[in-house]
Amino acid sequence: SIYGDYIKSVIRTVPDWPQPGINFRDITPLLQNSSAFRKLIDSFVHRYQDMELDAIAAIDARGFIIGAPVAYELGCSFVPVRKKGKLPFRTISETYTLEYGKSEVELHSDAFRHGDRILLMDDLIATGGTMLAAAKLITRSGGHVVETATIIDLPEIGGSSRIREAGFGVFAVCS
Ligand code: IMP
Repeated sequence: SIYGDYIKSVIRTVPDWPQPGINFRDITPLLQNSSAFRKLIDSFVHRYQDMELDAIAAIDARGFIIGAPVAYELGCSFVPVRKKGKLPFRTISETYTLEYGKSEVELHSDAFRHGDRILLMDDLIATGGTMLAAAKLITRSGGHVVETATIIDLPEIGGSSRIREAGFGVFAVCS
């Protein structure tokens, strides 16, 4: 992305949070900077405007911040992929393993029509576990994942390679 280096410069790294040894990428300075936030959303809109998407699916919770304005701008639907236990209607879910323990993402079973063209968005790819579980869930529900998109990829952790090996494309604004 042409704004990649600029966007990266307005993301803050917080050392040792939430645990010693973790360098947390904090996007709040990017969101506070209205021109940076606009450039970020425009980067996604520019990439996807001619891809005939039916819906943006975005992952709870920071994925929502970018997914909703992109859906609005592209004129397609917005579908939340939520953490376990948040969706009120009939759901389908996918469990995945974390470094310590398990997590689960859920979708409403009527979120997509068969063959819908879906862009899956989240703020960051580390191990890729969250994005991959969501991509599998969308695929199981009959949606076609056109690509997965994120603000930040941490390629040294290997998540984006893992997602690509599973057959899904990955677009990152900065890495
Ligand atoms: P993964 O499943 O290991 O790829 O972790 C990605 C998920 O954890 C995303 O939903 C992110 O929001 C969150 N996450 C992990 N590390 C960070 C970070 O440094 N900054 C912001 N979010 C993070």
